[in-house]
Amino acid sequence: MPHPQTRKYNVNILGAGVSGLSTALTLLEKGNYSVKIIATHLPSDLNIDYTSPWAGAHWRSFADIADLAQQELDTVTYNRLAYLAENEPEAGIMYLTGHDYWEVKPKDFEDVWFKRLLKNYRYIPKEELPPGIEFGTTYTTVSINSPKYLLYLQEKILKLGGTLERGTVSSLKALARIPHHNKDHTKADIVINCSGLGSRTLGGVHDHQMFPTRGQVVIVKVPDELWPKAKQYTMEQYAEGSCMGAGTVTYVIPRDNGEIILGGTMEHWNYQEAPCELTTKAIFERVVATKPDLFSKATILRSCVGLRPNRCGGVRISAAVDQLDWNEGWNPNVLVVAHNYGHAGFGFQSSVGCANKIVEQIEGCLEELESVRSQARTMAKL
Ligand SMILES: Cc1cc2nc3c(=O)[nH]c(=O)nc-3n(C[C@H](O)[C@H](O)[C@H](O)COP(=O)(O)OP(=O)(O)OC[C@H]3O[C@@H](n4cnc5c(N)ncnc54)[C@H](O)[C@@H]3O)c2cc1C
Repeated sequence: MPHPQTRKYNVNILGAGVSGLSTALTLLEKGNYSVKIIATHLPSDLNIDYTSPWAGAHWRSFADIADLAQQELDTVTYNRLAYLAENEPEAGIMYLTGHDYWEVKPKDFEDVWFKRLLKNYRYIPKEELPPGIEFGTTYTTVSINSPKYLLYLQEKILKLGGTLERGTVSSLKALARIPHHNKDHTKADIVINCSGLGSRTLGGVHDHQMFPTRGQVVIVKVPDELWPKAKQYTMEQYAEGSCMGAGTVTYVIPRDNGEIILGGTMEHWNYQEAPCELTTKAIFERVVATKPDLFSKATILRSCVGLRPNRCGGVRISAAVDQLDWNEGWNPNVLVVAHNYGHAGFGFQSSVGCANKIVEQIEGCLEELESVRSQARTMAKL
């Protein structure tokens, strides 16, 4: 692996959520990039403007049966998370059994695409379904202790020579100006916007397709004797009239630290930071009604709120050679400007796939970058 000072391209990444960290790690593993992350919030911070630590999170793909591109992103990520569950306990990933419950079986029910990917996919026999559930499926999946996983990614990045710097930037131009401390040159060759919901207000982006989808969760513990069973159990329950990922969704996601996340809400355009007490009560009651043997004696530790970075047009993964400041005239300061944001409720479960995809797109721009820079050097002399 090249020493950080001899790496060819300087990269400034905006954002230290799961998207920014995964992108940074993918670049660093390639060896040819010097990577600096700049972010207002860093792993172990808790803030409403930093979604990642609030995520449940488990792998339960929402990709449509025809959406092969999203399926690929989710598949690559699942395979990586499964590897971590088996080999690197410090990542905070564990295997468990997923359950999808429908209060009313959808008329047009189709098997999910990932029945080919996950082990042990099957329909739950009627006699094993909880009260109030008409239809259900089960499969092996993983849960992610999101704050722990962010710290794990940060640690990996630091080990590979990447850096993280706390700071707020107002625009892509300002991001590009943050210097590196390399021998040859200090300027960024590549900037990557992984600012999640921040992309709504970031200068040079101002993406008004971005909006928050508020998620309130309740964090509980069960009595010690129930934990061995509880840590194996994750579920999503869909109310009548709702489909996967929309409408009222009730869910349970245990983490490897003994805490269990109960959800939830999906409230578009709601920025309210404070948890609502009535919602906490409603979520808890819904979960207890479905699984009284595990949760009727659970203790509520706290309620939390996170804002999913949703985007009308879907996730934005793009890269192009660009000159951010045309007032500079012809000059070799063109760079690759890339974006990886808008992951709504699937930022963890597609994180590795999205990071691979953006890095692939960036690498596809490098030849053009060199050629445009060389032309600009010539033009600047004329
Ligand atoms: C309740 C809840 C449950 C969820 N459950 C799941 C789940 O089960 N599975 C799943 O895959 N996903 C889940 N998600 C979704 C997941 O959390 C998000 O998709 C993901 O965290 C988005 O990560 P991100 O890195 O894009 O954004 P963020 O984590 O919000 O990171 C954005 C970063 O950009 C920085 N930033 C923004 N603007 C600026 C600026 N101008 N200057 C400097 N820094 C800036 C911030 O400080 C931060 O570091 C859930 C979310 C919620 C709220």
